[in-house]
Amino acid sequence: MELKIESTLRCPHCGHMATERMPENACQYYYDCRGCGRLLKPQPGDCCVFCSYGDTPCPPIQLDQGCCHQGQPGEP
Ligand SMILES: [Zn+2]
Repeated sequence: MELKIESTLRCPHCGHMATERMPENACQYYYDCRGCGRLLKPQPGDCCVFCSYGDTPCPPIQLDQGCCHQGQPGEP
């Protein structure tokens, strides 16, 4: 299975869509919507904003490695 490193995020608040490049070995927990400026966080059970709002799950999920930082929001 080919790894996709870009995902199109859709904001649940304003519907703004943006294609973002995903880090290949980490999850992105927070994302600032470029449409409305709200801070997006993953939905319960999801490890990152790409899994919750993107059209492509994050690389660790694609590789079936599971979530990389469970319960620890670690975005610097
Ligand atoms: Zn928005």
